[in-house]
Amino acid sequence: MKQAEFKDELFNVVNSRKDSLQKELLEWAKKNLRQFPWRENRTPYSVLIAEVLLKRTTASAVLRIYKEFISLYPNIETLAKADRNKLEKMLLTIGYHKRRADILIDIAKHVVNKYNGEIPKTKEELLEIPHIGHYTANAILSLGYGIPSAMVDSNVDRVIKRLFMNHLPKKPSMHVIQKIADNLAPKENNQFYNLALLDFGALVCRYGIPKCKSCPLSKFCDYYLAGKPCG
Ligand code: SF4
Repeated sequence: MKQAEFKDELFNVVNSRKDSLQKELLEWAKKNLRQFPWRENRTPYSVLIAEVLLKRTTASAVLRIYKEFISLYPNIETLAKADRNKLEKMLLTIGYHKRRADILIDIAKHVVNKYNGEIPKTKEELLEIPHIGHYTANAILSLGYGIPSAMVDSNVDRVIKRLFMNHLPKKPSMHVIQKIADNLAPKENNQFYNLALLDFGALVCRYGIPKCKSCPLSKFCDYYLAGKPCG
């Protein structure tokens, strides 16, 4: 099949399932969304910090330091001036402490020097900040600024690949997965939808054997309908 035909067919399928997927997912999230301190009173800064802290570690590890972190470094200016040893010591408990301290200070200095301490509001500018990729940029836009954007982490990537398995190549590019996510994400309720999809990927369509038997999306899911292993 030619590239253009593959994409036409894929996006016809995505669009045909979109409304039902959104509806079922949002219903599921009303009862199952996880509560974390970084999901409360969100600002672009708190979203950015949470995303850097959550990389390559678990939410339960970040829970141990998040509140103390925000109280010691309540804004980007205080973080840009942080004492590196003190910062590394705090990060020790969540791993990659030296690298994470470098990343946090690099980002903070860049935002202070280039944007006068205001985290930018456009994807292009966010992507120019060192260490910020598409996922973190979209998280800041959606969760921090309320600008509709589709967040694709490894959980969301897996959900999309399973849902549309029959219509995707064996190794779909990140670009194609992001396009599907962009297509599925609603403009209204965008923040709640993003959190719902992240949690759904972590809790139901999880790594390993997914919980298809209790999944509200199973009736639209290529993986489930193909009879693949599920719990
Ligand atoms: Fe994931 Fe299974 Fe649900 Fe499909 S049916 S979305 S594979 S949990």
